[in-house]
Amino acid sequence: MPKVPAWQDVVQALIHLVFPSGCASCQTPLWQTSIPFFCQSCWGKLSLLPEPYCPQCGRPFASPVALTHSPTHACGACREHPPAFSKAWSVFAYQTPLKEALALFKYRGKVTLAHPLARLLIQHLPSLPPVDVIMPVPLHAQRLREREFNQSALLANPLSQHLGLPLILGGLIRTRPTVPQTSLTRKERLTNLRGAFSVSQPVAIQGKAILVIDDVMTTGTTLHECAHTLRQAGSGPVYGLTLARMV
Ligand SMILES: [Zn+2]
Ligand SMILES: [Zn+2]
Repeated sequence: MPKVPAWQDVVQALIHLVFPSGCASCQTPLWQTSIPFFCQSCWGKLSLLPEPYCPQCGRPFASPVALTHSPTHACGACREHPPAFSKAWSVFAYQTPLKEALALFKYRGKVTLAHPLARLLIQHLPSLPPVDVIMPVPLHAQRLREREFNQSALLANPLSQHLGLPLILGGLIRTRPTVPQTSLTRKERLTNLRGAFSVSQPVAIQGKAILVIDDVMTTGTTLHECAHTLRQAGSGPVYGLTLARMV
């Protein structure tokens, strides 16, 4: 996008002063808010991922008593196709207003949302096992050029600072463009990403416990492929953390 001239910024600001833009979720005019694009009331409606969930992949169980008798019981998908990652956590359900916030952030380039979204992740951090490095799920170079930023890296960066852990950018690369997982059937999702990642410097991750960060988890296939690639290249255990999860 071309850089908007400063006078247009001024005009925009004046327009907003007279006609404040609405909350992206409820359209209430936003006069003053600490979260860009959202009113405090909507932002307060973020829903944490409902418990109980699979102790390996974090998929919520339909039954509220699913783990009552065996707390380590993994979900059917994990038992049928054990994922390459040791454990994954998602903090929020992929619902309003997070859905709208992630869409604005990712697809409309509203990077001012990166900070409040990363803060949510930090505020609701699960108790993590020992981790050596943090890596974001990479975008393909072509997608990165179009979008100009990797949303997962913008979430992973403040998290690495908060945890005092090194962030490895470019350690994991996407070797071919893939269609979004959300646009595919379950069967297609399993093959869409096969062999789509590679490790640029295997020596940098030898034996390291890695926490992979992504914005949304759909079926866990992306995280599985990343973990599989990292393990094949010699990493230690791989864990996943996403801000949201499809429910
Ligand atoms: Zn609102
Ligand atoms: Zn599972």
